Amino acid sequence: MADKTTILYIEDDLGSQMLVQRMLSFAGYRVIVASRGIEGIDMAQRELPSLILMDINLPDLSGREVTTRLRSDERFKTIPIVALTSQSQTSERDLAMAAGVTGYLNKPVDVDRLPAQVAHYLQGGKDTIDEVVLRKAQVAYSQEVVTRLEAKIRELERSNAELRRLDKIKDDFIQLTAHELRTPLTLIYGYSRLLQDSPIVKKLKAEASDVSMFVDGLVESIERMVKVINEILTISRIASGRVDLNITPTNLATITAAVIKNYQEAAQKRNLLINFTPSQWPVTLHGDSELLELCLHNLLGNAIKYTPDGGLITLSCRVGANNAVILIQDSGIGINKDDQVRIFDRFYTASDTQLHSTSKTAFRGGGLGLGLAISQGVIEAHGGRLWVESEGRDEEKLPGSTFYIELPLQAHTSTPQHKLP
Ligand code: ADP
Repeated sequence: MADKTTILYIEDDLGSQMLVQRMLSFAGYRVIVASRGIEGIDMAQRELPSLILMDINLPDLSGREVTTRLRSDERFKTIPIVALTSQSQTSERDLAMAAGVTGYLNKPVDVDRLPAQVAHYLQGGKDTIDEVVLRKAQVAYSQEVVTRLEAKIRELERSNAELRRLDKIKDDFIQLTAHELRTPLTLIYGYSRLLQDSPIVKKLKAEASDVSMFVDGLVESIERMVKVINEILTISRIASGRVDLNITPTNLATITAAVIKNYQEAAQKRNLLINFTPSQWPVTLHGDSELLELCLHNLLGNAIKYTPDGGLITLSCRVGANNAVILIQDSGIGINKDDQVRIFDRFYTASDTQLHSTSKTAFRGGGLGLGLAISQGVIEAHGGRLWVESEGRDEEKLPGSTFYIELPLQAHTSTPQHKLP
């Protein structure tokens, strides 16, 4: 069976597909079928057929364009490509010859003659065309291709503009919703803190452990909601280029120490060592200290989340002539090469969220997948870069990850025009 000659038939009409397939299979050929031009090109590259039968009117690329595309590939320079089409005008035939077909057959298919016609082209048979006619057809064909290309580009530009419009509507909607939710939530948060601190509740908490669990649980959940809503607001501001930096002289060591202090308790509970030597950070640069602190907070938070108990996290700083590079290095699970760019996309998480806080490896914590996108937006708004290096992900060997924040030492005062992906 394997030595049967393979014929690829590129045709979108089901009736023709079945008829030709039946006739040629009966004549001893292996027939494979593609319904669209692009699919036909892919199938031809995969299967390397001995002959291709080509419909001209296909839903995506025309049969002529598929032929030209295949002829540009060394492997299809000489194989017979035969047009099989209902367009019988001479001009259509000339155009197909200009595109590079070997022969031209008309539909409806002549059931009795097709196997012999295929055999003829397989044995080297070629249709002929007058040189002058061919040259004219080549000019007409290249004009046709350019016109089609222009129409396609215009079509793509139109749909791109429409997608951008819809994307903006979505961004505005998210921002508005988050904004509307934040106002009442701030109140709820305030009241919950007042409740937590009120002498009556304190007394009740001392008397019944349930009360303590309920009230503290309530405050923690509200805090988490506030954090998520703030993240959504920050990301939509960054995405629409509306992040206004409040540039002041910023001491990197001071903000890093503050961030570490925030995580000290969580790190101690998990027996994680955070290595940080402030004296080796002689850097004051011009930046938005609040937003830079937010980035460090996200990156250190991730390092803690994705490093198992007993691990080591090192924060260090290298200073060059024009920039400073902060390194956040962990001894955690690492990140696959494929994910090292994608994790900076909005709402992208490389981990299985099912595993987050319920599995045995509970060092991971759930997240929306916004932290890195926000951090990258903020660093780029400063004219800097944020990237990661890791050998790959391995929960046994723990190759670790290193995140790099590169920041220019000079102030970057212009309002950023960049957009997140
Ligand atoms: P999340 O809220 O999910 O932590 P982030 O944008 O901060 O969102 O991170 C996106 C994804 O990148 C995470 O879900 C995780 O899979 C991966 N990631 C981030 N930091 C680390 C790290 N230090 N080690 C391993 N994986 C990480």
